[in-house]
Amino acid sequence: MLTPVSIPRAIDGRRVWLRVGMLLDGGCGAPQRDAHVVYDRNAILFVGGERPPRDLLNSGQTEPDCELPECTLLPGLTDAHTHLFLEGGELDETRRAAYVKQTPDALIALARARLKKLVRLGITAVRDTGDKDGVGLALSRLCRGAERPLMPYVDSPGASIHHRGRYGSFMGEPMEEYDSPQACVEARVRAGAERIKLIATGIINFKEGAVTSAPQMTAEEIREFVAAARALGKQTLAHASGDEGIERAIEGGVDTIEHGFFVRDDQLAKMRDRGIAWVPTFAPVQRQVDYAERMGWDAKVVANLRRILERHAASLVKAHAMGVPIIAGSDAGSYGVAHGLGFLYELELMERAGLSPLAVIHSATGAGSERLRFREKFGQIKTGFLSRMIVARHSPLQGIGNLGKDRVVVFDCEVFETSGTERFAGL
Ligand SMILES: [Zn+2]
Repeated sequence: MLTPVSIPRAIDGRRVWLRVGMLLDGGCGAPQRDAHVVYDRNAILFVGGERPPRDLLNSGQTEPDCELPECTLLPGLTDAHTHLFLEGGELDETRRAAYVKQTPDALIALARARLKKLVRLGITAVRDTGDKDGVGLALSRLCRGAERPLMPYVDSPGASIHHRGRYGSFMGEPMEEYDSPQACVEARVRAGAERIKLIATGIINFKEGAVTSAPQMTAEEIREFVAAARALGKQTLAHASGDEGIERAIEGGVDTIEHGFFVRDDQLAKMRDRGIAWVPTFAPVQRQVDYAERMGWDAKVVANLRRILERHAASLVKAHAMGVPIIAGSDAGSYGVAHGLGFLYELELMERAGLSPLAVIHSATGAGSERLRFREKFGQIKTGFLSRMIVARHSPLQGIGNLGKDRVVVFDCEVFETSGTERFAGL
C-alpha cells in the first residue's frame, strides 16, 4: 500500500530515494520496470534500474526511503492551454458573466487561490493562453519572483492579439492599437509576455457545425508577428480552427496550432515537416455535448458536435502516427472545463480518441518541455530536471483515468497526497 507519510520531504538538504514498480520518464522512451530515483529539493539526481551510487545518497543510507513496487512514477503534468482568469467549473451563465466583470485585482486573487490546488492535482506547470486584465502576467511574475508561493510554473502571453471587431475581445486586445505587428509584439514583451498569442480565426459555429467566419489574419500578418516575436526570442501560438485559417497559421510559421478543429491530413503533414506542434483541446467542445441541455442545444447541434469531435479524434490518431508533435492542453476556463480537473478530463478524451496512455502522458509531460521552451526544466524524470513528480497508485498505463485516483505529488520539497475526491469549486 502507498501510505502518504512514506515519502519524506526533501528538506534540510535531505535526499530522497524511491524505488518504484514502473517509471514513465515523460520522454519518448519505453516504460521502465523496477526503477530507482534519487532527488533533493532542487533536482533529480539519479534515475536508473540499478541501485544509485553511494555518493548520491544521504550519508549512511543503504536502503530506499520507500519501496513502491505497485506504484508508477511519472513527471508532474503540464497543461499547455489554460485561461487562469476564468473559472471553468462554474456552470451558471449569469454567475460566469458576473465573474469576468470583477476588477483585475479580484481576478488575480481568485486565480492565485487555484494555484496550490493545481499542484495538489499534479498539474505542476501551466502555459496560460491569454487574458486582457493581466492575470496571467501577474501569476507569471509571481512564479519568477523571490516570494514564489507554492504554485505551478506559469507563463503567459498577456493579452491575446486579435483584429478589432473580431472574435477574442474578452481575452485580447486589437492589433489596431499599434502601427505594426512588430510594435504590438514589442509592447506585449515589455509587459512581460513570454510568448505571443494570435487569434488567427474565429470559433466553431456549433449550429452550422463548421467555422463559418473568414479567418481573422492573413498569412502575411501572421508571418510579421512570428518574425517580430522570434527577433525577441519568443514563440508564437495561434488559436486556429477551420482549414483555411489553419493553412494561414502554418504558412505564417507559428510554433503551435491551438484547437485546430477541421485540420486536414495534408496540413498535419506540413505541421510535422515544419515542427509545428498541435494542442487539440477536446474538452471545451466535449463539454458542449456533456452540458447540451443546459446550453439549450437541440439534437441537430449535438449531432454536429459529435461529428466534429469524431473527426478531431481521427485527426489526432493520424497526427500521432505521422509524427506531429502533440501537446495536451485543456482550454481550462472555458465553459465546464475546470482548471486541473478539466485537464485530467482532456487526457481521458485524448485516450478515448485513440491515443495510447503512454502517448497521452508524453503529450502532457515531455512533449511540452521539449517544444515550448519553458524557463524551468520540468516534464521529464531525468537527472537535472526539477523534482516535480507524481506517484500513482493505479497505473495510468491501464487507463489514463487512473491519474485522477489516489496519488502522491512531489513538488520540490513538498509532498501531497491526493485521493480523487477533489471538487470543482473555485477551479
Ligand atoms: Zn483558449
